[in-house]
Amino acid sequence: MSLKPFQTLVEIQKIDHLIGQLEQNIREEKGRNQKIAELIQDKKAQESSNSQKLEELLTLIHKLEKELQEQINIFSRASERLPTIKTEQALKATEAEIEKSQQEKERLEEDLLLQMTEQDNLEEEKKELTTFFTGIIKSQKEIADEVEKNVSSLEKQISQYDERITNLKTLLPSQLLQQFELLNKKYRFKYPISFIDENSCFQCKMSVSTSIKDQIEKTLKPANCPGCKRLLIPHQAFS
Ligand SMILES: [Zn+2]
Repeated sequence: MSLKPFQTLVEIQKIDHLIGQLEQNIREEKGRNQKIAELIQDKKAQESSNSQKLEELLTLIHKLEKELQEQINIFSRASERLPTIKTEQALKATEAEIEKSQQEKERLEEDLLLQMTEQDNLEEEKKELTTFFTGIIKSQKEIADEVEKNVSSLEKQISQYDERITNLKTLLPSQLLQQFELLNKKYRFKYPISFIDENSCFQCKMSVSTSIKDQIEKTLKPANCPGCKRLLIPHQAFS
């Protein structure tokens, strides 16, 4: 056999490897759509949790406001009663009531302030999320368009490479082609064709006997690697 079919095999492997890289690029391109979809999903979950928290908080604030109003009423009723009180005991009780309602009022006001600050934060977050959604929907569309364009250009490139491989395959002796096709099922994009480097298979590093080496390099008869079973062809074909 001449060196030519082996050079053709190396060329096929090179082009096929490029196809593998382009397929990887396509996966990455499609991943961009996926990533943005996941981001939107995360933000939607955040939005839903935010609105639930806000709803609960508004209920709590409403309850606290009612309680505060009650304490204010208790306070003013007791204060109004104060000048009309006749006995020392009743005076003491009313004063205690005033003091207690005063304390309750302060506690409720403090709590309300805290909850209202939290409400402000949640409302701010809600606003930011709304802005985010407005922007992201536009970006999502733009990215999807860009991905579609890139993927279609990559697919076109792949089909051109496929065509070149198909043409190159017609130049191969049928037995060599069969061997290649079989190995390419197992080693597609992982270099089905190897050579002997020093005294080992370049791909799997398994050592190869001198007689096999001579058979390949001197009589140009390919052999399967004893380790990985890749097709070992003359080293020269790679240069
Ligand atoms: Zn090997």
